[in-house]
Amino acid sequence: MTDLPMSPLMGQMMDQPLLISTIIEFAARHYGDTEIVSRRVEGDLHRYTYRDCARRSRQLASALGNLGVAMGDRVATLAWNGYRHMELYYGVSGSGAVLHTINPRLHPEQIAYIVNHANDEYLFFDLTFLPAIEAMARHCKTVKGYIALCGRAQMPRESGIPLLLCYEELVEAASPDYAWPQFDERSAAALCYTSGTTGNPKGALYSHRSTVLHAYASSMPNALNVSAHDVVLPVVPMFHVMAWGLPYSVPLSGAKMVFPGPALDGKSLYELFEAEKVTFSAGVPTVWLGLLNHVVQNDLRFSSFRRTVIGGSACPPAMMDTLIDRFGVEVVHAWGMTEMSPLGTACTLMARHDALSPDERRAVLRKQGHAIYGVDMKIVDDDGTELAWDGTTYGHLLVKGPWVVSGYFRDEGGEVLQDGWFPTGDVATIDPDGYLHITDRSKDVIKSGGEWIGSIDLENVAMSHPGVLQAACIGVQHPKWAERPLLVVVRRPGIQEVTREELLAFFSGKVAKWWIPDDVVFTDALPVGGTGKIQKNKLRDAYQDYRLPTA
Ligand code: ADP
Repeated sequence: MTDLPMSPLMGQMMDQPLLISTIIEFAARHYGDTEIVSRRVEGDLHRYTYRDCARRSRQLASALGNLGVAMGDRVATLAWNGYRHMELYYGVSGSGAVLHTINPRLHPEQIAYIVNHANDEYLFFDLTFLPAIEAMARHCKTVKGYIALCGRAQMPRESGIPLLLCYEELVEAASPDYAWPQFDERSAAALCYTSGTTGNPKGALYSHRSTVLHAYASSMPNALNVSAHDVVLPVVPMFHVMAWGLPYSVPLSGAKMVFPGPALDGKSLYELFEAEKVTFSAGVPTVWLGLLNHVVQNDLRFSSFRRTVIGGSACPPAMMDTLIDRFGVEVVHAWGMTEMSPLGTACTLMARHDALSPDERRAVLRKQGHAIYGVDMKIVDDDGTELAWDGTTYGHLLVKGPWVVSGYFRDEGGEVLQDGWFPTGDVATIDPDGYLHITDRSKDVIKSGGEWIGSIDLENVAMSHPGVLQAACIGVQHPKWAERPLLVVVRRPGIQEVTREELLAFFSGKVAKWWIPDDVVFTDALPVGGTGKIQKNKLRDAYQDYRLPTA
C-alpha cells in the first residue's frame, strides 16, 4: 500500500493508526462501568468492568516487557473464554507482540507442531490444560516459559514444566502506568491456525488494521448488530478464529460481556444466559444442539435471549425453526473462515423482503447471507470464469478484502491468491439480491455422473425429519455414476425410530430426484473435529468400501 500515489491535496484528518489497544481504552473511558462476567475454571463467577480490564491489560503488557517479549514476538494461549484470556487479547497485541490462540482440542502433536512453527516465546494456559502442557512441553523448543492463568493458591505444586509462572503474580507486580506503544497499523496482531483437515495447519496472521476494521464492520446492523443495549455471551471459543472477533466488537460497542469458561453443556449455558440476562450469543450449530436439547427436554423458556449468530457450518433449518418459532430468538446465519477473520456474510433481510410470505422469508434466512462492506465475493467455474448471480448456478467461491489473508504465515502453501482473490474452497450460489448459499466444501461435493450434488442441502432435509438428530452426507463409489450420496444418520433418542425407507421417502419432492441418497446408514455418533464440525474425511474413510444397494 505504501507505494500508492499520493494526491497533491491530502486530507487533513488526524492520522491515528487503527490499533487494538484503542478498543479497550475506548471501552474503559466511555463504558467504564460496563461488566465482564466470567465463569472461571475454578468454578466460580468472576465479575469486573471494562475499566478493570484495561488496567490489567496494561499491567500485563508491562509484565511482558519485563519478560523480554518484544514487538512481533509470538505469545501463545491455551485457554477458555474468560476475562484473563481477554486481557491477553489486549495486553499481548497492544504491546506490539502477536497473540497466538491455540485450539486445545487439537491433538498434542499438532499443538507442538503449531507452537514450533509459530516460534512461540511464552505460553499462557488455563489449569484444565496442565496435563497437555506437561505432555508436550519438551517438544516445544522455542517456549521460554509457561504461565498458569490462576492465582498463587491454585498454582500446581509439582509439575515437570520448565519455568512455570503464576499469572496473577505477574500481572499484580506490574505497573498499570503503561503507555500503549504507537506503531504501524499493518503490524501483526494475532495468529490463528486453520484446523487443517488435510496437511499441516496453516497460520492466518491478522494485523491491527484488519482486526479493527473487522470489528467495526461485524458489529453493524447488517451483520451481528451488537450495541450497548446487548449482553453478549460468546459460546464460540476465543481459541477459534478470535471468537469471531467478539472480544473486539463487544467492547467497541459498549455491550456487557459474559464468558462461559469451560462450562459449555446445555444446562450450564442456560443458567448463565438466565442469570446474566444474555440477549445475544454466537456459536456453531453443534453447541446449540446441546443447549436446545436441555431447554426442550426440561420445557424451559429464555427470558432475555433475543438473537443469535450461527455459523462455522450450515445451520440446520430445523434448528433455525425451533429457535425462531418456539423460542422467539432471531437467527442470523453467517458464513466465514479463519482466513477471513472470519466474517464474510451475514443473513439479515432487506426492506424488499417484507413483501414475501413468511415461508419465502424463511427460505432467504436459511442462506448464508449477504456480503458486508469490506468483503467482495464472486463465484467462478473450473477455468476461473465468473458465473451469474442467479441463485442456481454454482461455482467456486472467491473473496477479497482488507481482513482476508494474502498468504499464510511463513509462506506455508506458497502463493494462495488467484488474480488477487482468495479461493475459499467452498462451492456456492449467489442470488440476484447478492445472497450467498453454500452448497458444499469443494472437497465434500458429491460428483454423480459429472454433475455436482450439494451435500449440505441433503443434510438439511434429513435433519428436518423429527427422528433425526444429526446427519452427514458423503459420496461413495458407484460403478456407473462415479459417486452417489450415502446418508449417515444419528437417530434422535426418545421417539419412534425412523427407518431407512421412511427417510428416503421423506426426500421426495424436496430435492431433485437424482439427488436423493442411494442409501442410509445409522450410527451412534458422527466424528466431530476440534472446531465442532463433522469430519467428513473420516466418514469417507470409514465408508470407502461401502456397497450401495443400487450399485
Ligand atoms: P477450518 O474448519 O478449515 O479450520 P474454519 O473454521 O475457518 O476453518 O471454517 C471455514 C469453513 O467452514 C468455510 O470455508 C465453510 O466451508 C464452513 N462454513 C462456515 N460457515 C458456514 C455456514 N454458515 N454454512 C456452511 N458452511 C460454513
